[in-house]
Amino acid sequence: WKHAPGHFRALLDASRGYGERDFLIYEDERLSFEEHYRRASALATVLVRDYGVAKGDRVALAMRNYPEWVVSFSAILAAGAIAVPLNAWWTRQELEFGLADSGAKVLIADGERADRLAAASYDARLIVTRPGGEPPEGAALLADLIADAGPGSAPPAVELDPEDPATIFYTSGTTGRPKGALGTHRNLGQAPMTVAYSLMRGAMLAGKDPAQASGERRVSLLTVPLFHVTGCFATMITSLFSGATIVLMYKWDPGVALRLIEREKVTGLVGVPTNAWQLLSHPDIGKHDISSLGSLGYGGAPAPPKLLERITSELPGRAPSNGYGMTETTALIINNTGRSYLDKPDSIGHPVAVIDVRISDPLGNEVPVGEVGELCVRGSAVIAGYWNRPDATAETFVDGWLHTGDLARVDEEGFVYIVDRAKDMVIRGGENVYCAEVEAALFEHPAVDDAAVIGIPHDELGEEVGAVIRLKPGARVTEADLTGFLKERIATFKIPTHVWFRDADLPRNPGGKILKTHLRREILGL
Ligand code: ATP
Ligand code: MG
Repeated sequence: WKHAPGHFRALLDASRGYGERDFLIYEDERLSFEEHYRRASALATVLVRDYGVAKGDRVALAMRNYPEWVVSFSAILAAGAIAVPLNAWWTRQELEFGLADSGAKVLIADGERADRLAAASYDARLIVTRPGGEPPEGAALLADLIADAGPGSAPPAVELDPEDPATIFYTSGTTGRPKGALGTHRNLGQAPMTVAYSLMRGAMLAGKDPAQASGERRVSLLTVPLFHVTGCFATMITSLFSGATIVLMYKWDPGVALRLIEREKVTGLVGVPTNAWQLLSHPDIGKHDISSLGSLGYGGAPAPPKLLERITSELPGRAPSNGYGMTETTALIINNTGRSYLDKPDSIGHPVAVIDVRISDPLGNEVPVGEVGELCVRGSAVIAGYWNRPDATAETFVDGWLHTGDLARVDEEGFVYIVDRAKDMVIRGGENVYCAEVEAALFEHPAVDDAAVIGIPHDELGEEVGAVIRLKPGARVTEADLTGFLKERIATFKIPTHVWFRDADLPRNPGGKILKTHLRREILGL
């Protein structure tokens, strides 16, 4: 057993130092750092002793944001195995894909997921938590296993190297089938540093003393799933390291969030831009004491500049921050916060210390400052490749650089701007229209609650620009009103020629991204 910094076991051991402080809060349940350590150690012992889990084996997780998700994740890594968090929103077939693709030996699932998999075929042995009724035939109950682990409070000894794989997180599947991002202990180990660095910079730029800010008690409300990197690495792993408390939610609900912020004196919100937007729009926001809330951090999807404007005017004194990251970069790697975010609200900010950035043309050459190209990154947060996908790995990881698939530019001061996803851009008669830019302009309109811009096939132009709009309740706006509004803001060729109004919420995945393939199918039958 080697003790290496950046190794999960070292992090877990160190977290005992926070003792009886609350680590995880879920409804009326509270789990301290010490209790988390005890349960994770017990489960790791059982996985190795009774389930034959060995170094490098895959153990899958399929559950909502319950405290057991975190205990199980920690146990799997402490046992030397690879944790495979599956998306809790997945259907039976998608869960089957994740289990088969990862070759999971054990699956730890909540009752809902276990029921969903009742008629499924998979090889993994099942451990269940929070069963709806009787647990399925042959499945063990997680709580029983932890209780029966026997004496001994430390996880079993495993020889591990920081380069050993630790996690397989599936990408969101926005541009195709989800890919398993294979992360190492070293990738994971830098996450707390990245977040600490961003917090310090945020404090400094907000005119606070960073030393004092780093010593303040932090309570984060996690509004996004643990099975994505923001929840797991930027929040959970970072809290394990820094002693911050995490308030978990079964699912995102702005009304519940307001109550939790008041009850737990939450100091920071971590999520996607939609969470912050919906919190601000909630009719009860004035009825709750949310004075403890000092920061609103979001990322994972484009944040319209209008969101920053709303936060500064409707929740003055809070520190908003916009973080950019991918599953392949173990959460956030580029961040805009504090005064620089106010100065450049359309930028994702500067790369954190462990990351190099370059903007490439299609041939792989670096483009001059200010020009748009593909954002490429490298550094210790970047994974080495995908699980089981040599084709996608070879395409995405070239000469040590991760090709993000995002179009971006960098200004003279090194600020990065995401222009659009390469696959999201609409090419109208040879002119590039960046959906994110048109969406940001639509969000400026006071009646617009949500907006998605998509390409519409067109014989002559190749594509035309379409927009799907959800208006705020009671708002009355016509297509002509909207296009008239846009004319003052963006060039004519970017203005949508087809507008659909929609009453229902726009379809989003749990990472807050609009499912444009669903929208296209729904609207155009494509
Ligand atoms: P898939 O790779 O399976 O198609 P995905 O790219 O949506 O899905 P994630 O890894 O969850 O899967 O998301 C990363 C992407 O999210 C980035 O490549 C970028 O397009 C987008 N993104 C993340 N943060 C931001 C941000 N702050 N601003 C704009 N876009 C962002
Ligand atoms: Mg991606």
